[in-house]
Amino acid sequence: MNPEDIDSSRRLVVGGIATGMVAAFGTPVLAQQGNAPTGAGAASGAPAMRNPVTEYPRPPFPRQEQEWPGLASRMTPRPDHGETSYKGSGRLAGRKALVTGGDSGIGRAAAIAFAREGADVAFNYLPAEEPDAREVVELIRAEGRKAIPLPGDIRDEAFCNKLVADAARELGGLDILVNNAARQHSVPSILELTTEQLDETFKTNVYAMFWITKAAMRHLGPGSTIINTSSVTAYEPSANLLDYSATKAAIMSFTKSLAKQVAQKGIRVNAVAPGPVWTPLQPSGGQPPDQLTSFGGDTPMGRPGQPAELAPIYVLLASQDSSYATGQVYGAVGGRGGP
Ligand code: NAD
Ligand code: MG
Repeated sequence: MNPEDIDSSRRLVVGGIATGMVAAFGTPVLAQQGNAPTGAGAASGAPAMRNPVTEYPRPPFPRQEQEWPGLASRMTPRPDHGETSYKGSGRLAGRKALVTGGDSGIGRAAAIAFAREGADVAFNYLPAEEPDAREVVELIRAEGRKAIPLPGDIRDEAFCNKLVADAARELGGLDILVNNAARQHSVPSILELTTEQLDETFKTNVYAMFWITKAAMRHLGPGSTIINTSSVTAYEPSANLLDYSATKAAIMSFTKSLAKQVAQKGIRVNAVAPGPVWTPLQPSGGQPPDQLTSFGGDTPMGRPGQPAELAPIYVLLASQDSSYATGQVYGAVGGRGGP
């Protein structure tokens, strides 16, 4: 594989990082690692090869905890959503995307990448996440694209219908839907897992995906794509994530079933299965705090993924480039488990 392929969407934009952006969103974790690009690209300024093992922070991480739903801006180290590194090439020019959970983590990385590829982006988040959402709005608008922030709670069917209607109205249509928002709360035993939590997790992760997708169908035409965020836990479920893992398996199955149903309409449906990724989901109840310090350390890669490392997969699945791929699950798990 040539170095361009490896690093095309994640390169440091040498000399192209607006100073204001760095000031606003912090030093990219890449720069903190002292992992200098090597190979032909390093000299020419072209995308360079980097060692993925040392490219991003590794455990141990500082002990930290946040109240749910958590903020990316309060994590140490700050996650890399591609703010200073993702470089687009017009692959989604003129497209209209709705991303749930677009304020932080993987959804934010997808939203930034979509905008840099030329798409207008509406995104949903919880009102408590407004500070993270403001940053995303700023990043999308910096690309000259439309940013439509649509706060609200997707556990409510009426809100889900309104979310899709508002997004389609503000964007002037809809052709990319990313069902990415989720609830993950670690509980060690089935005896402590309440019906209330089971209900919350399924409402957020499964019901909302169903409601939003159903509402979106009337807007999606041939060439449109739906991308759902599943997880490595659909394939290798964690003992402490009984309810969450079950929803992620449901998402995988929903994806494959819907793909068959809508293939003849020219609509593609795929899913992404991330492994451990450094996002606010984890310090806000997703992991026990004493386990978060070693988060991702048990993967063959020896570190968690960063949201920026997932974004290129969402771009690929959203774009025409993946025109024959539907009903598939794409993993990025650091080497263990997954599809
Ligand atoms: P994140 O916390 O940054 O994103 C999750 C988002 O879900 C939140 O930002 C929030 O806006 C949204 N959300 C939760 N409940 C909501 C509600 N009731 N109404 C509206 N929005 C709500 O974390 P993330 O890790 O980027 O999560 C994104 C997706 O990635 C999720 O589907 C998650 O299951 C999946 N995932 C994450 C990991 C990981 O290790 N971080 C691993 C596998 C899969
Ligand atoms: Mg968030």
